[in-house]
Amino acid sequence: MQKIRDFHYASIHQRQEFWRREGGRIHWETPFERTLDDSRLPFARWYVGGKTNLCYNAVDRWLPLQADRQALIWVSTEVDQERIYTQAQLHDEVNAVAAMLREQGVGQGDRVLLYMPMIPEAVFTMLACARLGAIHSVVFGGFAAHNLAQRIDDARPKVIVSADAGSRGGKVMPYKPLLDQALDLSQSRPAAVIIVDRGLAPAPLADGQWDYAELRARHEGARVPVTWLESSEPSYILYTSGTTGKPKGVQRDTGGYTVALAASMEYIFNGKPGETFFCTSDIGWVVGHSYIVYGPLIGGQATILYEGTPVRPDGAILWKLVERFKVNTLFSAPTAVRVLKRQDPELLRRHDLSSLRTLYLAGEPLDEPTARWIGEALGKPVIDNYWQTESGWPILSAQPGVERTPPRLGSPSFPTYGYDVRVIDESTGQDLEAGRKGVVAIVPPLPPGAMSTIWGDDERFVRTYFESIPGRQVYSTFDWGRVDDDGYWFILGRTDDVINVAGHRLGTREIEESISSHAKVAECAVVGVADALKGQVAAAFVVLKDPSQAEGADAMRALEGDMMRVVDQQLGAVARPARIRFVAALPKTRSGKVLRRAIVAVCEGRDPGDLATIEDPNALELIKESLK
Ligand code: ATP
Ligand code: MG
Repeated sequence: MQKIRDFHYASIHQRQEFWRREGGRIHWETPFERTLDDSRLPFARWYVGGKTNLCYNAVDRWLPLQADRQALIWVSTEVDQERIYTQAQLHDEVNAVAAMLREQGVGQGDRVLLYMPMIPEAVFTMLACARLGAIHSVVFGGFAAHNLAQRIDDARPKVIVSADAGSRGGKVMPYKPLLDQALDLSQSRPAAVIIVDRGLAPAPLADGQWDYAELRARHEGARVPVTWLESSEPSYILYTSGTTGKPKGVQRDTGGYTVALAASMEYIFNGKPGETFFCTSDIGWVVGHSYIVYGPLIGGQATILYEGTPVRPDGAILWKLVERFKVNTLFSAPTAVRVLKRQDPELLRRHDLSSLRTLYLAGEPLDEPTARWIGEALGKPVIDNYWQTESGWPILSAQPGVERTPPRLGSPSFPTYGYDVRVIDESTGQDLEAGRKGVVAIVPPLPPGAMSTIWGDDERFVRTYFESIPGRQVYSTFDWGRVDDDGYWFILGRTDDVINVAGHRLGTREIEESISSHAKVAECAVVGVADALKGQVAAAFVVLKDPSQAEGADAMRALEGDMMRVVDQQLGAVARPARIRFVAALPKTRSGKVLRRAIVAVCEGRDPGDLATIEDPNALELIKESLK
């Protein structure tokens, strides 16, 4: 593993040289004067003086090379439609939408808010904003009016682009009424609202609201010149998922992000121009920004935009798409794999998956049993990668484009180039040696592509991320981790989720891993609950592969005892949950993360607070009932 170590070393210790070279991957209209300005840490400016454009690097740059090659493949199993755009057609659409936004007065630095389902028009709009130097703020389509209003007030967009409706699991989800409500709730008044009418739900247009197709038709064949931005100018604002509380508006730069994505397409995803990339995330999340829209296109790859779930029409749909479009790289989330795990494994063998090189999974801990199951079922490498909205691209990952390293189950392998990651003691700020658990922190400067600041609030950026650990100005990920003797990293849960049981500090993830190793478990969540005697105790909630196995009090007791013994053996009696309860589902955010803070609140008899990001409120009711 020498190569990957040397590579990482160079990215930190010969930082300027390393990143100057990487800067050469993209088109600069004006070359940069300095690779890095770190005179005002923790603020870092990458590629100072350089002028570039995200849309140019994603779209225009590839025109002379592959104009007729597929660039954007849209498949919707929700409305049974698909549309394929070549590079040239994508270029046409983006130009037309840019002309349409320009007509509404959108220019450099203006914000455009997108509240859209997974349709090509959303991708065109993002790229059109980038073309104009406007700042997009994509709000996940599943959010309710109240969340949307908050984000409208924070971004103060000049234009909002939305749609009549989305669809999920075959059910139409109207968007327009939510948008109208949000506009009523918010203080900010956009100059125009543009609605894509998919013919799914009634969406009457009020004053200042326009039909997308009608406006679009006026700009057939339009050409809009690229607005060249200084590297540090913002490209977009994106809010964190809100798992731990109030979301933070992450501001991304332009040049550093373009370089970082271009580099990741080779080093992390080991891909080449002309390949096909399929990321199942949503454009409302960071993974969707970086690896549905920008990364693959910057890397000259075709990207698949998929509106649908992994189980409709059946559990083979992802594999069917891999076969049909000869997907080389698939990127999904552990939560999707856990859903598939409950399906017939035969579904994986029905399709020709020979084009597929690697499956990447990110977003939440990938437990060993799930990693093993999908790895064996696919017969392909599975790469767990760890990152955050803030980072914009993986912080920890295997990097097969640098060197092929043996995987270790449960570990997202190693820090990526540019990320000076440490495990530190949260009370002293000292680095901890291998084997010790602590906070995962990053020594500034953050590399290219990571957040530049919190939108409109530099002070909150510094305070939130760089001042949480006494005596040391490092970026806290607010995750808890450990490195093993061979240098493999493990994420043990969020710092909020560290449980202190009678003086022993335990990551909830460790206990979850242990319970998950029991053959009957599909998934589980462990939280720390206040306890008068021990300070805190662990409470576990388990979803069984076959729920009938916990029917009746005796069966339930026996199974609970069984699982407790597993934890006893693996982690010791201190880690043993006070109770293990069986539920049919876990409360999750819409991005698939377990809402632990809500579970803790319910367990402690408190109000769970803001549940706007919850996928299925009923799952929290099930937790409540299981406590009785
Ligand atoms: P908020 O910051 O608003 O509470 P969030 O942290 O869930 O929301 P994201 O930026 O979408 O918002 O998620 C990043 C977090 O997801 C990481 O900090 C980590 O806790 C978790 N995570 C992501 N990938 C992995 C992974 N591969 N293994 C373990 N945890 C992961
Ligand atoms: Mg976070």
